[in-house]
Amino acid sequence: MKNFETRLTRYMDAGFPLLYVDTFEEEKAAETVKKVFRSYGLLEWNIRGFFDHQSHASMTGQSLADTLDLLLSDDSSLRRKVLVLRGAHFFLDDPAVTERLKQIAQKINRGDIEDCSVFIIAPVVKIPVELESYLTILTMDFLTPEEIKGIIKSFISESGLSPLQEDFLDELTMTFKGLSETEINNILALAVADDGEINHQDLSLIFEQKQQMIKKSGILDMVTVNESIDDIGGLENLKKWLQRKAEVFKNITKARSFGVDVPKGVLIAGMPGCGKSLNAKAAAKLFGVPLLRMDMGRLMGKYVGESEGNMRRAIALAEASSPCVLWIDELEKAFAGIGGQGGGAEVTTRLFGNFLTWLQEKDSLAFVVATANNIADLPPELLRKGRFDEIFYVGLPNKEEREKIFSIHIGKRRKQDLSSIDLSTLVSKTEGYSGADIEGVVRDSVEDAFASRKNSLVTDDIVRAINNTHSLSEIMKDSLEKMSKIYKDRKFKNASA
Ligand code: ADP
Repeated sequence: MKNFETRLTRYMDAGFPLLYVDTFEEEKAAETVKKVFRSYGLLEWNIRGFFDHQSHASMTGQSLADTLDLLLSDDSSLRRKVLVLRGAHFFLDDPAVTERLKQIAQKINRGDIEDCSVFIIAPVVKIPVELESYLTILTMDFLTPEEIKGIIKSFISESGLSPLQEDFLDELTMTFKGLSETEINNILALAVADDGEINHQDLSLIFEQKQQMIKKSGILDMVTVNESIDDIGGLENLKKWLQRKAEVFKNITKARSFGVDVPKGVLIAGMPGCGKSLNAKAAAKLFGVPLLRMDMGRLMGKYVGESEGNMRRAIALAEASSPCVLWIDELEKAFAGIGGQGGGAEVTTRLFGNFLTWLQEKDSLAFVVATANNIADLPPELLRKGRFDEIFYVGLPNKEEREKIFSIHIGKRRKQDLSSIDLSTLVSKTEGYSGADIEGVVRDSVEDAFASRKNSLVTDDIVRAINNTHSLSEIMKDSLEKMSKIYKDRKFKNASA
């Protein structure tokens, strides 16, 4: 929070006229602004009306537009004042409001109004284009471990509970990371309500609460993972690489003190249906952490700053939920159109910049697994060293890999028949098939055998299904060749051994 206070002062000192504080903790943000600028006169507008905290004058029911009008009529009314607007985001599509805010900002910039900043405190970012150049977005930091500890301690003493053991207090503090003060207090109250104390069982309550936050955000999904590394046939290089990173990830304190860098993430590019998503899931299982998927489509908002706000929130949520794997699916879709002209392209370019900076500077335990089908659309900056720890490409499975994939998918459905099936026949008939194609073939043949009232699955059943299927390489011949060439030219690591 200290950091937030410092930034507030810095922006105000630098004469930024409009500051947009994007936070769920509006009350706390307002308190912080009041604290930092206690030597200034405080003016506040909210849904109830307009209040001058210095003179204790109030105008209940006064609209935002009328309030701004009033302030504009006399420049001295804003001298050495901070104006805090709460609930203003409901009115930012009203031209009467945006025009007046713009006039105030211009007066501050020109020096007609001295020593004044306007703070818009809101839980969503909604900035009309007209105000974009006058507005700076500020986000509140997440609570520090010391602050969280302080909140827990004061809750315990206020509720008359006996102090927690230091170890447990530390554990609780870590799991509360990323939650707001209100949320922490609510969970603690809930934890006490069931059995009169706060104990280890309550940790699952915190986990549930974090899931809630993620669901409510609408930008990240918490993916349930059933797949493990053993469900992946082939891709030995990639699997070995992930296993090594998992070793570091799981023993991060030791690894760090040994001098190992914190794992950043991996970009897995390549043919559709060849196990990219499977690897993202298996990574989460291997690292023993939750998997969060970022939906780029949902990230893009219609207001200026909204997409960036969403990106920031998604990143903050992922960091708050760390250790975790953050899976960015179809990366190329998000960043298509980088560097182009026009509003949409500019937003994408900015969004991309935010993402790159985060990736570059990240030292939290949010491990990024980005997957992409078409690398040709990805901006070259993203592929530069230092962004991801490694870039792998997955191609169509070779003979050994196809054999493993067949045995995994047959094993999952008809384990009892596996030893009598001639895998080498299946392998020789499936050149150019993707992992997903092979799974499809197995699925169809099992269903077929059942529908024909057979007691077991035999090689011929699967051969028949193969003959009825078109492989990926048949369907996408041209684009597959083009992609293979790009991967080879750019010298990406092959995921297969
Ligand atoms: P994509 O590369 O498009 O992300 P997926 O990982 O979603 O492909 O693969 C789709 C399905 O195909 C998987 O759920 C899995 O059942 C099967 N599959 C693909 N590759 C493999 C593989 N190497 N081993 C086992 N199954 C695979």
